[in-house]
Amino acid sequence: MTALETLIEALKRLPGVGQKSAQRMAYHLLQHDRAAMPRLAEALMAAGEHIRHCERCHTFSETPICAVCADPERDARLLCVVETPADQAALERTGSYRGYYFVLLGRLSPLDGIGTGRIGAAELLARAAEDGVEEVILATSFTAEGEATAHVLAEALRVRGVKSTRLARGVPVGSELEYVDLGTIAHALSDRR
Ligand SMILES: [Zn+2]
Repeated sequence: MTALETLIEALKRLPGVGQKSAQRMAYHLLQHDRAAMPRLAEALMAAGEHIRHCERCHTFSETPICAVCADPERDARLLCVVETPADQAALERTGSYRGYYFVLLGRLSPLDGIGTGRIGAAELLARAAEDGVEEVILATSFTAEGEATAHVLAEALRVRGVKSTRLARGVPVGSELEYVDLGTIAHALSDRR
């Protein structure tokens, strides 16, 4: 493969980027923004090298424990379960949630071979059993898989005597949390049941 083909193939690994978009990006960089190329390469290398997962909540973090988990001012009675760090960021932007998080880094999808082990269910249950946790808020997506994930986790929490709630409706069916507007998320959070 030529260097151009290799670049296009690498860009195509990004979500939502097909052949045409990858070509457009590659040509743009080569024609108009050569300076961005080493910057992109360095940023990718640095991110890959330094960003790990928080040992406590599994979100992306450059430190063993992320800033949220390390913040003693948060409300330890609340633990919010989200699918992705992007969903967590969306909830943080609403400014209406002050508890801690647990990031699944996925959702149950038996057909794709993603079971409870892959989403850290055991770690979540252990975290939820810690002293002080009074409510686990299941903020997985309102997609079929997100709903199924919430259902399985709610049942596992229930048999362990841990209260769980689900974000209220109002978040459109089928939607990924990260793309929902902040007001709707804040409302769904306050109306959880
Ligand atoms: Zn954390």
